[in-house]
Amino acid sequence: MPIHVLPDHVVAQIAAGEVVERPASVIKELVENALDAGATHIGVASIGGGQKMLRVSDDGSGIRAAEVELAFARHATSKLHTADDLLHLQTLGFRGEALCSIAAVAHVTCISRHRDEQTGLRLRLEGSVITVKQASGAPAGTVITVENLFYNVPARLKFLKKETTEKRQIAQIVTLYAMAYPKIRFTLEQDGREAFRSNGSGKLSDVLAAAFGSETFKQLVPVESTTNGIQVSGYTATPEAGRGNRERMHIFINGRAVQDHSLLRAVTDAYKGLVPEGQYPVSVLMVSVPPEDVDVNVHPTKAEVRFRDPNAIFTAVQRAIREAIIGTGGGTNVSYRPAASGFTSPRRTPSGGFRPSFTDEQLPDESDVSSEDSAEYAAEEPREFDISHIPEGIGQPDRPRTLPVLRVVGQMGLRYVIAEGPVGMYLIDQHAAHQRILYNAVRARMDEGQDIPVTETVGGTARTTPVQSRQLDDLIPSLHPYGLWIEPFGLHIYRVAAAPNFLADLDAELVIRAVLNAILNPGDDIREAVFIALCRLGALQHGTLLTQADMQALIRELERTPDPLTAPDGSAVLVEFSADLIAREFKRR
Ligand code: ADP
Ligand code: MG
Repeated sequence: MPIHVLPDHVVAQIAAGEVVERPASVIKELVENALDAGATHIGVASIGGGQKMLRVSDDGSGIRAAEVELAFARHATSKLHTADDLLHLQTLGFRGEALCSIAAVAHVTCISRHRDEQTGLRLRLEGSVITVKQASGAPAGTVITVENLFYNVPARLKFLKKETTEKRQIAQIVTLYAMAYPKIRFTLEQDGREAFRSNGSGKLSDVLAAAFGSETFKQLVPVESTTNGIQVSGYTATPEAGRGNRERMHIFINGRAVQDHSLLRAVTDAYKGLVPEGQYPVSVLMVSVPPEDVDVNVHPTKAEVRFRDPNAIFTAVQRAIREAIIGTGGGTNVSYRPAASGFTSPRRTPSGGFRPSFTDEQLPDESDVSSEDSAEYAAEEPREFDISHIPEGIGQPDRPRTLPVLRVVGQMGLRYVIAEGPVGMYLIDQHAAHQRILYNAVRARMDEGQDIPVTETVGGTARTTPVQSRQLDDLIPSLHPYGLWIEPFGLHIYRVAAAPNFLADLDAELVIRAVLNAILNPGDDIREAVFIALCRLGALQHGTLLTQADMQALIRELERTPDPLTAPDGSAVLVEFSADLIAREFKRR
């Protein structure tokens, strides 16, 4: 075959192979253009993993009508004039290749109106050939729609991954840019459904919470450190949190997401000894270096960069992470648990935060005085629940909330209240919750020197052994401040003259058994043990049917206790199922 110069469209197709590898790389180029154009909102949409249709719309400067066609020419750029400009680039694009390359391998429609011009222009290209060019009304900004990607490059088409994989790649790239540009509002719609949205608040934390979900976000600590003029900021996982793969380690150099293996190693190295081998932390880092110290022009998609002093950056990243995670109080002396057991070490919860995911928690068991005894006390048949048993003195409106506002959904198994909160669903153990409320109410009164409201309706008597009688006699006076008045009623027989009003209508036998039982397991403070046992006895039992109003009252009281997460005996009151976690469970099926 004689030598000949390739026609332009063939050159374009070959060159396109470098820039446009898959739908996500088209998104990347178009989003970068929108950012360079000063957009504040960037909308991304895809259909069918992006092969069928991709669209990026922005409210940036727009392209002048006279220049739209030029924008699609090879090496046409407004961002660079001389090669020297490469040394202090402020824009993401500069090669002037993206639009040209995309147009070579797809059907592209560009509608753009420059903000200084009255009318916009609509340009359609099919495989680099212009098929439509007409004036068009449009809001200032640019919308580029790419259809039938690789329709004329069967080889590429064949190499596209499953639709779900391409979709994930697209979501990943949009999320990455949202992280790098928290001030810009990003929305992503895939197959007509919103897949991601950032709020443009300017806070990286908001983007991360949207991208990873609150469950994961709660396990991150902020990174903020400067070493030798290299600034590293972002968020990284506490050593207790972990992840099996590298998918959530992201490094941005001057606002550009890069794949730099050495820097990723700097991150994993910083966790050495804190996480088991083969575990990768969630880590999102923004590295700022002087533009002249980094060469971004080494890779067609600019995913790799070259540093003038790679070691300095490596050190800065590693140090920043170390500082962040050692500062968490984890660090040097945290012994990491093997992956097999899951991440069960108690996680740090932000103050006032909830216990972590339910996988960490055993659902609270029956009260645990000792199993036989508690079985005796637990009322088997449904008992009337009267919220008025809750003494006054709690729930003053001035007491700050310690739980988010919870909406009661219903009751489950005559045991748990199902509630909905801002970040997901909660199961609240009715028995444990009420114990907490009773305990705090009585404590609050005692602390304020007020009498405990008592009832004199505890009927019946209890027989004791001589040993128990002696123990009771010793203890009885010290229980008066708690509102419990036990009296001898004959030899080795006792009655209850008065008791905290939440024990109204119980039998003396039950009350005195609870006291004796507490004496057997006194812990540090026998009166405290008795008090806790009484709360357990008087609290709403499992097996009690609750009306909607009962449940609302219960939750409202719980919301006002300073420590709503556990009952006084240490059992869990509520278990959180975050919306993310639930969504993940559904996706897994
Ligand atoms: P580069 O971004 O490297 O300059 P591109 O092929 O991506 O090359 O874009 C060519 C030119 O088209 C850009 O330099 C810019 O002037 C213009 N352009 C592309 N997309 C947009 C957009 N969304 N808003 C405004 N101008 C744009
Ligand atoms: Mg570009």
